[in-house]
Amino acid sequence: MANLHIRNVTAVIMDEHHTILEQAAIVTDGAHIHFVGPLAQAPDPAADDAVIDADGMVAIPGLINAHTHLAMTLFRGAADDLPLMTWLQEKIWPVEAHITRDDVYWASLLGIAEMLRAGVTTFNDMYWHVEAVADAVRESGIRAGLSAVVIGVVPHAEALLHEAEARVQAFIAEGHPRIVPFFGPHAPYTVPEAMMRKIVALAHTYGVRMHTHLSETAGEVESSRNLSGMTPIALMDAYELFTRPTTVAHGVHATDHDIAVLAHRGVGVAHCPSSNMKLGSGIAPVPDMLRAGIAVGLGTDGAGSNNTLDVLREVRQAALLHKVGGDATAVRAATALAMATRQGAAAMHLEHLGMLAPGYLADIALLDFQQPHLTPGGRVVSHLAYAAYAGDVDTVIVHGKVLMRGRQFATLDIERIRARVRESADRLFS
Ligand SMILES: [Zn+2]
Repeated sequence: MANLHIRNVTAVIMDEHHTILEQAAIVTDGAHIHFVGPLAQAPDPAADDAVIDADGMVAIPGLINAHTHLAMTLFRGAADDLPLMTWLQEKIWPVEAHITRDDVYWASLLGIAEMLRAGVTTFNDMYWHVEAVADAVRESGIRAGLSAVVIGVVPHAEALLHEAEARVQAFIAEGHPRIVPFFGPHAPYTVPEAMMRKIVALAHTYGVRMHTHLSETAGEVESSRNLSGMTPIALMDAYELFTRPTTVAHGVHATDHDIAVLAHRGVGVAHCPSSNMKLGSGIAPVPDMLRAGIAVGLGTDGAGSNNTLDVLREVRQAALLHKVGGDATAVRAATALAMATRQGAAAMHLEHLGMLAPGYLADIALLDFQQPHLTPGGRVVSHLAYAAYAGDVDTVIVHGKVLMRGRQFATLDIERIRARVRESADRLFS
């Protein structure tokens, strides 16, 4: 594979010192970043290396979507303005019963196209037919954490668990460099204790991570307290879920004690501000989580409840939402941007990801900053958090490979993908 030399770029490193390098160069070596620094000190390109002149562009680590249900692009706009349980039980689950592997494959490719256009290079997915999502990941070139989903409140729950175990075994045997397997017990209200404990045991057996939904709504917490005397987070701690590296989506109604538990156990949180707002779920105590030292990433959740997969928009939402209570410093621009990059990687327990630094994975987005809404120049972090949008992303690199350049896809036939998803949607919603 030819190495890449990105030259004349403004590089937002996303380290803890908020380093920004002007007139910089980024050089890859295969799947990793080899050099980041002043252009004058950069190694010269070899004859077969690819050179990208990024004058006027800003480089950031590829954005991380720490919680999504990618194939729910099929549900985009199909059921708006409803609370979570009504939305799930009346609008989502009845249609999901008819979704095929093929539907998931094309809807996942659509989601990947949408995310690449928005500078997203890693996503953390939880959806049915995970093998179809994996195909979309392999073919497109993007990076993903893929959860083998389990729910326990259906007649074929045991079969689902066996299927999830087989899928995790297959992922481990394959050892794909861009796929990280997770177990995905959906939530405490869909996975009873005995099954949750089985999943924890399997996760230990195979050494894989966990991805689940906890404390998304006040109603969920109340019914958990009524049934067990504990919050969902305390209950999962009692079931020893957090003895594996875990990513918790939402945590909207996490108590102070819950936050202490999450911090103590090293649990990552995927904060989904748009989805929480849209479903009326509430405002997650993100400033308290950050103060407790929890790795908080940003997720779009599925396109059924967002309705986009645009992580840059979640950066803005997160930075704004937590100010609503009256503290304009609650989540600053740099903090929100870290949540979409370095912290997102930490929330998924992925190493060498989310920063532009030697030895890190070469997942990079270049944004065209020569735009009216990004002028005057400089002020890069502010512009990224508050003014830039997905349409500013020009070039996307994952694992050292250019997947989009000048907004043109290298690996995806977008018109074919759109046509196939329209066919699926016509059938499912007819
Ligand atoms: Zn979700």
